[in-house]
Order: sequence, then structure tokens, then C-alpha cells
Amino acid sequence: MCSLFSTCLSRYSRRALLLRAISDPNTTPQHYTSSMSANKRSLKRQREPASAGGKQPKPAGERGRESGGKQPKPAGERGRESGGKQPKPAGERGRESGGKQPKPAGERGRESGGKQPKPAGERGRESGWLLEQVKELRRDAKGCEFNKKRLRYLSSTQKIKQGSDGVLYWMSRDQRVQDNWALIYAQQLALAEELPLHVCFCLVPRFLDAAYRQYAFMLKGLQEVAKECKSLDIQFHLLSGEPGQNLPTFVENCNFGAVVTDFNPLRIPLQWIESVKKHLPSDIPFIQVDAHNVVPCWEASEKLEYGARTIRGKITKLLPEFLTEISLVDTHPHAAPQTAKPLDWEEVLSSLEVDRAVGEVDWAQPGTSAGMAMLESFIDQRLRFFATDRNNPNCDALSRLSPWLHTGQLSAQRVVRQVKREKNVSESVASFTEELVVRRELADNFCFYNHKYDDVSGAYDWAKKTLQEHSKDSRQYLYTREQLENGKTHDQLWNAAQRQLVSEGKMHGFLRMYWAKKILEWTASPEEALSIAIYLNDRLSLDGCDPNGYVGCMWSICGIHDQGWAERPIFGKIRFMNYAGCKRKFDVAQFERKYAAIKEISKKDTKTSV
Ligand SMILES: Cc1cc2nc3c(=O)[nH]c(=O)nc-3n(C[C@H](O)[C@H](O)[C@H](O)COP(=O)(O)OP(=O)(O)OC[C@H]3O[C@@H](n4cnc5c(N)ncnc54)[C@H](O)[C@@H]3O)c2cc1C
Repeated sequence: MCSLFSTCLSRYSRRALLLRAISDPNTTPQHYTSSMSANKRSLKRQREPASAGGKQPKPAGERGRESGGKQPKPAGERGRESGGKQPKPAGERGRESGGKQPKPAGERGRESGGKQPKPAGERGRESGWLLEQVKELRRDAKGCEFNKKRLRYLSSTQKIKQGSDGVLYWMSRDQRVQDNWALIYAQQLALAEELPLHVCFCLVPRFLDAAYRQYAFMLKGLQEVAKECKSLDIQFHLLSGEPGQNLPTFVENCNFGAVVTDFNPLRIPLQWIESVKKHLPSDIPFIQVDAHNVVPCWEASEKLEYGARTIRGKITKLLPEFLTEISLVDTHPHAAPQTAKPLDWEEVLSSLEVDRAVGEVDWAQPGTSAGMAMLESFIDQRLRFFATDRNNPNCDALSRLSPWLHTGQLSAQRVVRQVKREKNVSESVASFTEELVVRRELADNFCFYNHKYDDVSGAYDWAKKTLQEHSKDSRQYLYTREQLENGKTHDQLWNAAQRQLVSEGKMHGFLRMYWAKKILEWTASPEEALSIAIYLNDRLSLDGCDPNGYVGCMWSICGIHDQGWAERPIFGKIRFMNYAGCKRKFDVAQFERKYAAIKEISKKDTKTSV
């Protein structure tokens, strides 16, 4: 059921929910800080009448010096980002309180015995319920109009070539069949012209620092895509090599009448697009659809945004238009005269020229089905703890969805729609939506509009200046990239976090901040710190090579989307985090013990079985 009526009806309630969930400006600076304190504060705010003006905690530097009387000047851009008083950075908060420390959020939340919403399982859901529900929702939405703001023409011609033999979707960032606006649009074009539908993927032998771990995850996901395409009478082709070299010839040889692709703001994929654009025949429309963001990147904002505070309202305003149900990609009724070459996936995996020392991990099974199962387990078991426990690395409160979101095996729009159906956990839904929609889409904005997204020179002026001023500060510890990769520092928490990354292919979100900031502290320059952090993240993390990763490293080391804080050695005005601060947030020893046994890079199973 996808009538205008139902869209309008739900718009009011959805809008109200979204406004509550996303537009609270107070969530901005709390993003990277302690969720426990953040949530305590937001609960408090809800209880306080608006007029009370609820006094906000000050930034670390300001608070730390409160008793001393004179305040430091606002650092760099502080006024701009905050417009007022800020909470302290995670690692710093609580330092001067001296008094009784609150228990880590996770321990509290679960010990309290307070009234918790029932887990979904107890509400009578059977395993696999999510997929069934989603199938029905997609079917109901079948035939919904495609919002053309999701696309942009990369070619001068917009008219499908007449007398052609099919429409091609060049799949790149969004490696899934369902919930994929690019494929939906390609199918609509093909249906309108009564043409067969084809999907292709261009496999490049190397991509940035990605290793076997990420490639295997991606290829096994693509194997599922190929199977699903086959079941829908859509031809799936795997091309190998640079898209600019192979794709235009492939299009000409197959006589395709239009090419649709998805959107990725990173440098290399943008170069691929340019090269394909240059070599495609001029009578073929080349169309790009942003199938990754809920609000298309170019619609959310046409410029580089300063931070979450400046993009949140823009995204929120557009959500009623874009956060719609997603229609089904159905069996394609027009058979292709040319069928795709059968694929030997084992051979494909063994032909990779990537580092096999970084092996696969057990907990994250590749493919959309496994991603949906992970989403189901999040909704059933972890979502209700998200608001309170998400910054406690000992608690299982995160979605763990980033590997599937990064590869596009899951659609963020589907995830957010499903999560928003959950009632009685509105605080968790709100904070999760902030991460998944606002923060994720802000990262795309940063990479799309700032071509130096992975370089210190891409930082704000105040941050470059402060880092430069402190670049010669003496460092108590200096580690090489190899020492860091092998978790051989003096800091057992850092080593444990690094071991988690090595062995599980994903580090807890809270520790990622601490991890990157310590790299700044323990290397010779911010440039070296940034390049090591990006290298390790891209090489070891299943969700690496992603705008979120570049922004995460740039936030931690170069203050992107953040503000200036009280000045200190090495960091200058970049936000600081320390071990003692972590100890106050969670049981650091418990985390260290958990990863103490894992010593080296995982040499685990790099066999090619698929
Ligand atoms: C140094 C550093 C490096 C990072 N590298 C990556 C990376 O390579 N890939 C990556 O996807 N994220 C990265 N992040 C952002 C964030 O830490 C991860 O998205 C999150 O830990 C993924 O785990 P999850 O899926 O369980 O997240 P959840 O907390 O469950 O969040 C759900 C989703 O929201 C999005 N999200 C959450 N936090 C952020 C954030 N801070 N910025 C943007 N989007 C966010 C992600 O898509 C995530 O999957 C990095 C952060 C830092 C500080």
C-alpha cells in the first residue's frame, strides 16, 4: 500500500517523531562523549521545564579551571560549534568531581532491575520475523514513485538509447538487490522500455589498504547478490579491472541503452565515475543515484557543513520526503538475449592481489541475509540498551551493523525504518538515528565537499594552527607503525583495543576515539598519526575505507566537526582523552583481560571457500 493518503497520514506522526529524535541541538557535542552522561543529561533536560534553561556542563578546559577564577579564552572555533556551554570530553569528565563515581552505564542499566521493556523474543517474535515483515512492506510499496531528487545525470543526454538491448546498473558502493534505489530506478527504466535488466560489478585487484578480510566479505556478499539476481531474471556480470577501462567497452558490446550507478564520495570511486563518463558513448545516459544516504548527499546540503549542528536541521527537514518505504525489485519480465558468464567464486577469491595475513572473522557473516539477521538481533536484544550503554566497550549495546552498511549489503534507510517501528525505546531510537542518519550522512558530506578529507591540510584553520604550534612538543612515547599494529605500547587498554581490531575486524566505537587520539600522542607528527590511523583502520577494520573512517580519524586527530578545547601539549586545542577518564567510564581491566590473550595479526583461515 503506497498511496499518497498513507504517506500523508504517517507524515505527521513520523515528522513529530523525527523532530524529537533528531532535531535536539543538545545532542551535537555529546556524540563522541560518554553516552552515560549524555543520556543522564538528556533525561534531566526532558524533566526540566524549558524555561529553566538547565545549566549545561562546560567544556573540559573551562570547567577544570572554574575554581581558579580566570577562564581560558574560547579556543578557535568553539563559539561557532557550540553557541554556548559544552559538556566535557569523554576522557576528561568527572576528573575534578572527586566524589563518588557513577557506575559504568552498562552495569547500571542492567543491574538496576528497573522496569525494562520486554525483549522482542519475549514479545513472541520468532527468529526470521524481520525478513518476513520487510518482504511484506516492500511488496506493499511496489510501484511507488521514484523520487527523482535521488538521481543526477552525469551525461548530457537523458534519453535512453533507442534500439538497445538492455539497461545496466553498475553496482559499486551499494552491493545489494533489495532496498537499493539505484537498482529500483534501473528496473523502472528497463520496464518502461520493455528491456532486459543487467547488473555489473567491477572488481579492482586492490583498493586503498583493504586486505583479504574486506575483499572476502565483499565478494561473498556479491555472491549472494548474483544468486538473487538470477532468481529475479536479472543478469549479473562480474568485470575485472578498472571501471574506466572495462565498463564503456562492455556497455558498447552489449548494446545497453542506459547506465545507472550508485554514489560514493571517496576520491577513487569519483575518479572511476569521471573515467567511465569520458569513455561512454555520448548517446547513452549515465545516471547516478545516491542509494546509500537516506537524504541524497547533494540534497541534504550543497556545501561543506561545519558539523552535526549545521546539517541536522537540513536532514531532519527532508526526512519526511526521503525516509519513505522502499519498493520491491521484482522478477524482471523481459528476458536477456545475452546471459551473464557463470562465475567461479573460488577462483575469483584466489586471484586477489591483497594481503592475506588479515583474515576473515567469525562474528560477521557476509551478505545481505546475514546483515538482516544482525539487524534483527539488534532490534530484539541490543537496541534497548543503546541509549545508555553504547559507550561502554564491555556492554553489548551497539548494532554492529557497520560492515554491512559500509559494503551496502544493508540499506541504512531500511535499518532506520525498521528501528523506528520499535516502541517504548524512544531514547535509544533517537540516539541510534542520530548516529546512523545524521553522523553517517555528515561524513559523506565531508568527503564529498572536502577533497582533502584524509589529510591534515583538510582540517579547519584553527586546528591546523594549533597542531602546527604543538608539532615540536616532546613526546613521552614514540611508536612505529609496526609496534602500533602489533599492540606493543605501554598502554594495556590501547593494546587491547588494537587486538580487538585485529582479531574481530572491528573496534568498539568508544575506543576508536581513544585509539586514534593516542596515535596522535605517540607519533612524531599529526601527519604521521593520521596516516597510521587511516592505514590501520582501512587495513584491519571490516568497515574501513569508508567516509565514516576518514571523518572518525580526522575528528580524533584534527578536530573535524568538533571545537577547540583547553590547550595542552601535543594536542593543542584538539580534544583530549586519557586512560584515567576511560577508567571512570567503564571497567577498563575487564576489557583488557578479555583481549590480553590475542597477540598478533590474525593469520586465521584465508582459504578461498565460498
Ligand atoms: C577513529 C575512528 C575511526 C572510525 N572508522 C570507521 C570506519 O572505518 N567505518 C565506519 O563505518 N565507522 C567508523 N567510525 C565511526 C563509528 O565508530 C563506527 O561507525 C561504529 O563504531 C560502527 O559500529 P556499529 O555499527 O556497531 O555502530 P552503532 O553505534 O551501532 O551505529 C550504527 C551506525 O551508525 C553509523 N555511525 C555510528 N557512529 C558513527 C560516527 N561516529 N560517524 C559516522 N557514522 C556513525 C555507522 O554507520 C554505524 O554502523 C570511526 C570512528 C572513529 C572515532
